Amino acid sequence: MATREVGSEGGDGALTEQFVAEWRNAAYNCYSSGHKFCREVCPVMQVTRDEAHTPTAFHANVVAMEQGHLSIEDVARDYVHCTQCGACELRCPNTLFTGDFYRFRTRTVDLVKAVRALAVESGVHQPGWQRWNELTDERKNEPVLNGTPVSQEHVADWADGLGLPVGGETVLFCDCEAAFYRTSLPRAVARILQAAGVEFGLMREQWCCGGPAAEMGYVDQARRFAEHNVADWRAVGAKRILVLDPHDYISFTEDYPRFFGDDYDFEIVLVVELVAELLREGKLTLSAPVDRVATYHDACRLNKRKGIYEAPREILRAIPGLTFKDVDHVTQWSYCSGAGAGLSIERPDLTAEISRRRVERAKRLEVDTLVSACVWSERPLSEQGESQDVEVVDLMELVAQAAGLEL
Ligand code: SF4
Repeated sequence: MATREVGSEGGDGALTEQFVAEWRNAAYNCYSSGHKFCREVCPVMQVTRDEAHTPTAFHANVVAMEQGHLSIEDVARDYVHCTQCGACELRCPNTLFTGDFYRFRTRTVDLVKAVRALAVESGVHQPGWQRWNELTDERKNEPVLNGTPVSQEHVADWADGLGLPVGGETVLFCDCEAAFYRTSLPRAVARILQAAGVEFGLMREQWCCGGPAAEMGYVDQARRFAEHNVADWRAVGAKRILVLDPHDYISFTEDYPRFFGDDYDFEIVLVVELVAELLREGKLTLSAPVDRVATYHDACRLNKRKGIYEAPREILRAIPGLTFKDVDHVTQWSYCSGAGAGLSIERPDLTAEISRRRVERAKRLEVDTLVSACVWSERPLSEQGESQDVEVVDLMELVAQAAGLEL
């Protein structure tokens, strides 16, 4: 292979040089480790078996870019093949063995985000992502419905008849997929919170959180959306933001603090954790039996990215009538839906296969229901559940049912 000087490729030299300077240490840590444990927990690699789609390759490319063997144009497409689930980070021996001593953690998710940002900044676009981000920019919410109108005018239609105010100290942020597609989820959340006496309002104008744009490399757009939402929170006097989707939770607890630094002073509350607390404190009672045999789908962004796996299980065990069958390896192992980080936009075939395998695993536990706490996983999982006779239900929908609440 011909050797090039770092940064000599097509006009993005300075950007690449800056990128390599930031990531070379992490890349060499991975490159010199050579264990490759991460490959077998990667949901994408499990399906494609393509070495170019592994976390190892994602790091090795940085070494090759530093040595001048590859440019961002050569590798950008490979980085589509990541759901940013975080499984490889947990499985990495550099995190597991040296992490305790050297405080080192492999950050494949951040690396993938950085490469995608470098690609966009260098003018290398993936057609599906480019179109998707243009549409989001135009409508201010994600084009989640494959052609069904998505607009600011209808962003709060899901709340019709619930009597929710606008603004207040506590505001519920409703994810775009939930606001326009699975509206039973935000309705369930709102009814549960009302039943438990939690006071909250809605935003005046809720735009997409910007997280998906950040995941696909459109960082400027992500930041503009974040600025809008934070300004809206401040305008209505919000101090506490309730979040019903794990992807939004990542945006508000990782991206927004990076954008705004110390000025970002909001309390971000995950609804699943709040509901577990309400049950513990006796403010919410579940007494209507739910006659199902269910297992739980750990959303990557809750379990592997945030270490949140106990609260949803606590809730499931509190539902009367429900037989809960848990998976054997709760942490670390990848039972992804394949829906995250734009994979379903560029490679819907892979998302479908990852979801099919996830439902198949559930089926092996002889359940009739797969419960999820991530609205983004629920569409691909439901599509696969239909043919395998497994119904996919959101955890909050089950809680509302057990609390005897009408949606
Ligand atoms: S974050 Fe998940 S999908 Fe991406 S490389 Fe790591 S294991 Fe694979």
